[in-house]
Amino acid sequence: MGTIIKKGVNILGITPEVCLVAQVADGCFAELGSSCEITSVFRITAFGYHGSGYAIDFGVDNFPKNVVRYEASKRVVKLLRERLPEYCDVVFGDKRHMDHIHVEIDLRKAYKSVK
Ligand SMILES: [Zn+2]
Repeated sequence: MGTIIKKGVNILGITPEVCLVAQVADGCFAELGSSCEITSVFRITAFGYHGSGYAIDFGVDNFPKNVVRYEASKRVVKLLRERLPEYCDVVFGDKRHMDHIHVEIDLRKAYKSVK
């Protein structure tokens, strides 16, 4: 297990905040018996915050063979939502997000939450 960066993924411009998200995600995937595979960080034309280092994708193909991928992914999503700050948006299960979990830091919400 552990964190894997998929071949070809560009980590250019990844923010410290997203690095911490990856660390939390590693623990969530580990609980389901999976490594934490980073499948996308930086893309020029992309959904959400991939162009600015505030988003990251995690693949969902590394669960043990005896678990249902969709169910295990949903459990990882639940753990991520419990463990990440409320301004992190965790997206999975719609048409564009069936083979990976997308996490982005909603900067507007993040700055609003500063006390
Ligand atoms: Zn994404």
